[in-house]
Amino acid sequence: MTEKNLAEKIDALLPQTQCGLCGHGGCMPYATAIAEKNEAINLCPPGGERVLAKLAALLKQEPIPLKAPAKPAQVAVIQEEACIGCLKCITACPVDAIVGAAKLMHTVITDACTGCELCIPPCPMDCIELVAISEPVNDDEFYQKAELARQRYYKHNVRLKSDASMAEKQHEQAVKASMITNNQDEILAARKAFVAEAIARAKAKKGQ
Ligand code: SF4
Ligand code: SF4
Ligand code: SF4
Repeated sequence: MTEKNLAEKIDALLPQTQCGLCGHGGCMPYATAIAEKNEAINLCPPGGERVLAKLAALLKQEPIPLKAPAKPAQVAVIQEEACIGCLKCITACPVDAIVGAAKLMHTVITDACTGCELCIPPCPMDCIELVAISEPVNDDEFYQKAELARQRYYKHNVRLKSDASMAEKQHEQAVKASMITNNQDEILAARKAFVAEAIARAKAKKGQ
């Protein structure tokens, strides 16, 4: 088995909350560190004993105690009356589980929330709470949730890349337009068009 294949197999056993509590940038980076750098297998609190046992079996290692206590299943809930609609939690959520628009109340999509807590520190109003939910009854339920989180995280990353490339493209067009002419009116018009497109894009996003 190549190290890449091994990392994928390890990643398939992880909870996909992307919380970073293992000290890596997400589940796949942790899986890669285990596969390629012999990282310890006991660093995932959301996975708890369940994931530790599966990693140990896959890698033919003895299970060792979890480095930090297992994290109980939980979801975030926004105290909507205190929310000022600053969008900071939306930006922080790796699975797009928060909906809302600027200056409007935000809400968590409970079924999509992994309880990763990444939305808590950026909130200036301290108005996001974590609420315990029932633990998955078996491996099937645990890994169905993980798969949902994996898909939402994948879509989130695709969206970020597409937003960034669209903004970059429009910026390039505006810069090119200003380079091929010395006419100040044309430069101004190109820049205005760029700003107008950016505003339209932001409005469209708010309407989603
Ligand atoms: S769920 Fe586990 S493996 Fe994934 S980022 Fe969090 S601690 Fe790391
Ligand atoms: S809403 Fe908060 S706790 Fe839930 S997945 Fe998004 S960032 Fe994590
Ligand atoms: S970070 Fe806090 S105040 Fe800002 S939109 Fe999210 S919940 Fe509301």
